[in-house]
Amino acid sequence: MMTFRVAVAAIALVAGSGVSAAPAKTADTPITEADLAAHIRALSDDAFEGRAPGTAGEDRTIAYIVGEWARAGLAAVPGSETPWLQPVPLVESRALGGAAQFRVKGRPFALEEDGVILSGRDSDVAMADVPTVFVGYGIDGAGKVNADVAGKLAIMLFDNAPFGEKLPRYRERRQMLADAGAAGVLVIATDALPWDQLRGAVDGPSIRLAAAKAGAPVSGFLSPKAADALFEKAGFKGDVLREAAKAPAYRGAVLPVTANLATKAEVRAFDSHNVIAKLPGAKPDGKAVLFLGHWDHLGICRPEGAADRICNGAVDNASGIAVLIEVAKRLAAGPRPDRDIYFLATTAEERGLLGAYHFADHPVVPLQDIAVALNVDTVAISPRGTPVATIGRGRLAHDALVRDVAVGLGRTLDTDGEADAFVQRQDGWALGAKDVPSLMVGGSFSDMGLLMKFLESDYHGPADQFSDRIPLGGAAEDADLHVALGRAFADSKRWPGE
Ligand SMILES: [Zn+2]
Repeated sequence: MMTFRVAVAAIALVAGSGVSAAPAKTADTPITEADLAAHIRALSDDAFEGRAPGTAGEDRTIAYIVGEWARAGLAAVPGSETPWLQPVPLVESRALGGAAQFRVKGRPFALEEDGVILSGRDSDVAMADVPTVFVGYGIDGAGKVNADVAGKLAIMLFDNAPFGEKLPRYRERRQMLADAGAAGVLVIATDALPWDQLRGAVDGPSIRLAAAKAGAPVSGFLSPKAADALFEKAGFKGDVLREAAKAPAYRGAVLPVTANLATKAEVRAFDSHNVIAKLPGAKPDGKAVLFLGHWDHLGICRPEGAADRICNGAVDNASGIAVLIEVAKRLAAGPRPDRDIYFLATTAEERGLLGAYHFADHPVVPLQDIAVALNVDTVAISPRGTPVATIGRGRLAHDALVRDVAVGLGRTLDTDGEADAFVQRQDGWALGAKDVPSLMVGGSFSDMGLLMKFLESDYHGPADQFSDRIPLGGAAEDADLHVALGRAFADSKRWPGE
């Protein structure tokens, strides 16, 4: 699951609907805790090095998943560039330092020490005498770039604008300024953005899709104090500028400031891979069911010398891949479903759903033919008997079928909507953005107390590793639920489709 800095209130669970139905008879052998444990243990072994894209850990992970799905009887997808694998071109960059020298009215002006953090887009950037403009929020009331920034260093406020309808966040506004030709964009930090965290974020490697729009040659942050000192020297008052910027018609202020900007970065282009496989349907009608989950995790995530340097990602998301492997086995072994069922293990989810976005741009089955996409992420959270929550509810027919299938297995439903706080943090978001009905169904997002306990402890750290204390009862139950969901959505009588 992807990091997303948002406070999610741990509200008391509203219990399920209270429906109790006898479990439906099914031919599928139940998926056990031991089935899942074997895969989670393997995929989160130190030998996989935390499954970072573009590492030896990727090769091992792919070999494992392909091996399991091939043994289950899945087929390679015709038309994919390499059987089983969809290359995902990525660019990784790691900032190696930078310097900014300012001149105010022609005279050198030294910022306070550590007042600016810079990162460069390319391996070597050097620009001299760059004119500087304060742009407020960078946009006007219509959501358009508000100032001429071409070839300039734009200094922008972090917070969302207090006007307009869409309220793009600072990353989006920074990209808009880059698209408008800014040579650099410096964001003025706030107290809500601890300086150490910003420095850490800029120092770490960043990964983007090679096809994504490039940012400005230089970007970074200015501390509030450094920004005010620079404004003051230039003859402006920081609070007056900030106040003026609140007007939807604000057009920015050209400062009597120039900057020399220099950055170095290590830039590496490489291909990572989505793994894609297919269970051909018995009576294909053009529609398809898609199961997905991300295989990647954070890799070697602690500096040399740390006791444990590997973020193994046992729960996040070896657990989801384990479910996808066992679901594939059951669906392939039992009566063959009518429709084609696709299995997708995505890369670089932890870097911003990159593999899922790439698949959405290069689908191996037309997106409008996907009856439902079921994402499985971070499922080893809850015990058996946990009610079923769904992220992405709102399509009535889909919701009704999920309810029928869950109730048919003797599950209760949790419909309080708390789970929706996570909708943007998971791969289904990238498909949902293109109108694919994307759901995340199961118990892990139902008991917020248990989920928050994980997110606030082992999550995204070296402690997310395999052990007997990982609860797998709920995951096994959810795995059976996914087998049944796959059968229901792939049954052309039960789900004629919308
Ligand atoms: Zn994660």
